[in-house]
Amino acid sequence: MLSSAIIDSGSGKIKGEVGGETFVEAQYNAASLEAKWQQKWIEQGLDKTQEHPQKPKFYALSMFPYPSGNLHMGHVRNYVITDVIARLKRMQGYRVLHPMGWDAFGLPAENAAMDKGVPPNQWTYQNIAQMKQQLQQLGLSLDWERELATCSPDYYQWTQWLFLQFYQAGLAYQKEAAVNWDPIDQTVLANEQVDNEGRSWRSGAKVERKLLRQWFLKITDYAEALLNDLDKLTGWPERVKLMQANWIGKSVGAYLEFPILGLEEKIAVFTTRPDTVYGVTYLVLAPEHPLTPLVTTPERQEVVKAFIQEISGQSEIERVAEDRPKRGILTGGTAINPFSGAEIPILIADYVLYEYGTGAVMGVPAHDTRDFKFAKENNLAIIEVIGSEAGCVSQAYTEAGIMVNSQQFNGMSSLEGKTAIINYAEAQGFGKARIQYRLRDWLISRQRYWGCPIPIIHCPSCGAVEVPEKDLPVLLPENIDLTGRGPSPLAKLEDWVNISCPHCGGGAKRETDTMDTFIDSSWYFLRFTDAKNDQEVFSADKVNDWMPVDQYVGGIEHAILHLLYSRFFTKVLCDRGLLKFNEPFQRLLTQGMVQGKTYFNPQKEGKDKWIPSTLVDKANPIDPQTGEALEMCYATMSKSKGNGVAPEEVIDKYGVDTARMFILFKAPPEKDLEWEESDVEGQSRFLNRVWRLVFDYLQKAPTPGETSGEKNLKRAIHTAIKEISEDLEGDYQFNTGVSELMKLSNAITEAKCYYSPVYREALEVLLILLAPFAPHISEQLWQELGQKTSVHCQTWPKFDENALKLDEITLVIQIMGKTRGNISVPANSSKEELEESARQSEIAQRYLEGKTIKKIIVVPGKLVNFVVE
Ligand SMILES: [Zn+2]
Repeated sequence: MLSSAIIDSGSGKIKGEVGGETFVEAQYNAASLEAKWQQKWIEQGLDKTQEHPQKPKFYALSMFPYPSGNLHMGHVRNYVITDVIARLKRMQGYRVLHPMGWDAFGLPAENAAMDKGVPPNQWTYQNIAQMKQQLQQLGLSLDWERELATCSPDYYQWTQWLFLQFYQAGLAYQKEAAVNWDPIDQTVLANEQVDNEGRSWRSGAKVERKLLRQWFLKITDYAEALLNDLDKLTGWPERVKLMQANWIGKSVGAYLEFPILGLEEKIAVFTTRPDTVYGVTYLVLAPEHPLTPLVTTPERQEVVKAFIQEISGQSEIERVAEDRPKRGILTGGTAINPFSGAEIPILIADYVLYEYGTGAVMGVPAHDTRDFKFAKENNLAIIEVIGSEAGCVSQAYTEAGIMVNSQQFNGMSSLEGKTAIINYAEAQGFGKARIQYRLRDWLISRQRYWGCPIPIIHCPSCGAVEVPEKDLPVLLPENIDLTGRGPSPLAKLEDWVNISCPHCGGGAKRETDTMDTFIDSSWYFLRFTDAKNDQEVFSADKVNDWMPVDQYVGGIEHAILHLLYSRFFTKVLCDRGLLKFNEPFQRLLTQGMVQGKTYFNPQKEGKDKWIPSTLVDKANPIDPQTGEALEMCYATMSKSKGNGVAPEEVIDKYGVDTARMFILFKAPPEKDLEWEESDVEGQSRFLNRVWRLVFDYLQKAPTPGETSGEKNLKRAIHTAIKEISEDLEGDYQFNTGVSELMKLSNAITEAKCYYSPVYREALEVLLILLAPFAPHISEQLWQELGQKTSVHCQTWPKFDENALKLDEITLVIQIMGKTRGNISVPANSSKEELEESARQSEIAQRYLEGKTIKKIIVVPGKLVNFVVE
């Protein structure tokens, strides 16, 4: 019975007195001890970046978040993974850079401003403050002194400076282009930002085509380097590299020119199948191709005009969609196949885009599936030029083969033929070899307000003029009227727009487009190495010291967009002499999604079928509206499905350490994770067990007692060190790492040799190994053991090979009951293992040579007797 008791809010210990005796009883109170340590670590400066030049560096980085104001479970998983790595590397003797910042420009702030009347600036910084507080609750070992926000002038000043680097290198230019126009967000989008269905990555709106004068970055100049250097990225998932390679889309083939009957001009095409050129029976121009009006005959003019009009409103993606019928019409014009001399019709069709390749394609229906279908529908000739048994009557033959109907090339293989045709075309002056890429230049203009202003001034006499470096940053004006309609909101601010030309002093106008926010995130990892520098973008020494990022962690959704752009930026800045490396991310981990229990009504269609889990009685899941039975599945947590689990809910209930342990234990980091409350409880129980182990020890330690089981415990310690160290190397198998921690805690529970120094060692090692995973509880227990320095400042232990060895016993070997010698075998060998060891021994081999074994008698732990004929 308690006579009096006080709960110490810091440690959760209950101090009290029973019958005059003082006792200390411990209770694991996650909330109070986590808050306490987070505060202490800040005071101790534990998470500051260390600058010991003699230590090797390690740069651990999570993809920085957009400050939406709310941290979700996906964020938590991402940052916890990086945090474990950062903490581990510190303990392994590295100086670690582990920063955090905000990808803070973008449309949501502007939309919120329109909805709620809060200026984008204010909305963004409120969200940042809120999310920062949530992040700090996670116990992440982040160096907050390097925090940055891309919307802050001290950051975007350098974004503008970098833009000018691109401009000076001839890598930023303006051109009139048919662009992807998002009618909801009222802005253009880069190709990477439009999905396979032709919808905006952000608003989901069906993208339209519009002709506008836009800024581009010349990423195509780097197509080959971006493709080739994928081979260097040995620490990247294959799937991400493949996605980038496909996006860059290199194809090797021929550039050929077809004369036009009655005109000087020629129609240029690119083909990867020059071996089929004798099978060309028509040419197709993009409707927007400048030759279209020239080749169109007077009698076809009306029809052609109507056709062009009709498809002008369609997006590119729609036009090239695989599952859509291809539409085309004759222009009345005729071209000549320069190889065969044949006269062939010229068409225009929706599936040919002017921006791709040459804006014209050759039609080879016999050997191309799309062309075959198109030719059949439009009554165009089909000529077989690659021999096949089936011929090309009912479908195209698209494989390689032997050339036929191809004059002097007949009998050649497709492969030989490709080279021969290119050589012939080159000799005759109507073609050459060419490499083409699918990748196109990066459209970076946005007609929106909340972005980085493009530092260019347009002068009627001088043209586009750079804003002088001393005038950077071009500040984003405040107090702006946002309507979400019409041209860029900046264009309406006359005071801001009108300026004198830095060259001639005459009247000029500022560029009113802002930059794609993906530019802001294409270099933030460089700025973290020198985040507070107000003199230059970053110091060369610092950036070259810390970069490349050793471990980057983020979502697979950035496989192309952000990761490709960042690689491009790094390569350009390397070529400009600003960096000494040309790839930004050494290793990349793309963490899986966090999935929640998701209830749906199979009787309903569309969005309505998802029933938020808060409205569902888990014991009897029925639709609250209709009473129909619900089904359950796991799906990525999202607002629309109402299946999310709020991080703060879990943290309030179990503490951050438990949440971290669950996330790390439930699935390997790159796999999807199913949120399961019972498994969260399991981790909570485990941490409570560790807690008890330490307090039980503290109460029993002073009394001399049992020391047996030391050797087994020693082995368990070193097995854990070995296994966990290996699990955290390379692929970061945190889940098996947590299993090993559990095994060690079981071994300690079984050991009972409290008096032995090995027991204490076991507890200390357990806490050190646990520290990167569950930083708060391990720190608390470490201090309870009387340690003065932080557990996070301890050196990661190394395992002792000798301690891993099992105990050995002496096994007697007998032949026909007569002892012939003995061998050493592991103490815990099974009967079968003992027999096998005896058989393999030199003694047995010697005495049994040439004899047939009739029977083997094994007396476990003692002897093996061979009975022979
Ligand atoms: Zn001028």
